Amino acid sequence: MSILIVCWGLFSASNVADLKANDDSAYAVIFITVDGLRSTEVLSGVDPTLLTDDRKASGIASDDSLKDIRERYWDESPEVRRQKLLPYFWNDWITQGALIGDLNYLDGAVQYRNPQKVSYPGYSELLTGRVVPLIIGNRKIQNPEQTILEFVKAKHGWTTQQVAVFASWDVFPWITMSEPGSIFCNAGYMNLDLDWVKQRPGVDMLNRNQSLLSTPWDSVRHDVVTAELALAYLDEERPRMFYLSLGETDDWAHERRYDRVLEMAVYFDETLKRIWDWTQSVECYRDRTLFVVTSDHGRGQNEETWTSHGRAIPEAANTWVALRGPGIPSVGKTKLDQTIYQTAIAPTIAWGFGLDPKEYYSEADAPIPVQAGW
Ligand SMILES: [Zn+2]
Repeated sequence: MSILIVCWGLFSASNVADLKANDDSAYAVIFITVDGLRSTEVLSGVDPTLLTDDRKASGIASDDSLKDIRERYWDESPEVRRQKLLPYFWNDWITQGALIGDLNYLDGAVQYRNPQKVSYPGYSELLTGRVVPLIIGNRKIQNPEQTILEFVKAKHGWTTQQVAVFASWDVFPWITMSEPGSIFCNAGYMNLDLDWVKQRPGVDMLNRNQSLLSTPWDSVRHDVVTAELALAYLDEERPRMFYLSLGETDDWAHERRYDRVLEMAVYFDETLKRIWDWTQSVECYRDRTLFVVTSDHGRGQNEETWTSHGRAIPEAANTWVALRGPGIPSVGKTKLDQTIYQTAIAPTIAWGFGLDPKEYYSEADAPIPVQAGW
């Protein structure tokens, strides 16, 4: 494959405009969300209150499984625990990026503004940079606001395929766009109907059989299906704005299955490595891709409430954000002297592409203040 094919778009007019607007402008932005994954697990690894012998609070399936979890992930030190649970994230990836978040939500380094603390209002806040009053639950209603995904596409004149979303939850075609079909979205048990899929036997198998590989939830497919289709799409279609939404961390928590939550957190860590490594293997993406990684809400903090989130659970407003790429300082875990709200995510994506967030939304928050030199 020639370099011109590999980096198609590299010399396009819109990209030149990017570079002029901001020397650190990203060639691409990759946005990843891990549904309901708490700051607790990200910042301090496996939760000691959920490793009790009776397994009542955790719902861990068996004594053997509990023993295995303790052997693999337990340590007295939260810093060691988090490295055991998310080894790539902590030992490698974030050392060249920046993570903000706080275990004590009252000091909240990163919080949601929307009071609902459920998924669709959270994703809408991330993708529109505002609280959308119409969106108070998870019903499939079309987002009334143009999302940042639609904005960057229109601004750069990209094709529908160049702004792509892969999600485990089937509500994403409603969440991610105000105009149906304006961006590429593959979500829930949706077939990926593109010519090249048949040339990739593993992807073709997952694609064809995804409805047989069913989860306990009709609206959420397995993250492994979502991520494998997503990685193949990245490689084949080379999108400029790419969003991967993983879902099982939340659903297994609602089922009170902490063992499964941990498995899916580990899978997120592995998937992050594969996507990062892919960007580093393709010239136009290498060192020119901004990664923004976060969650759509937190959840409860005690033995009862850890499974849930919503208006009655104030801790669910607390979350975390990880950034890596052009213009992001290599500070690792850090704390800003202000609370960052998730309304800053869409402006940060605009900033990543060298665009003015106020042009997207006149009342936009400032991007997360990476420019200040943390
Ligand atoms: Zn959620």
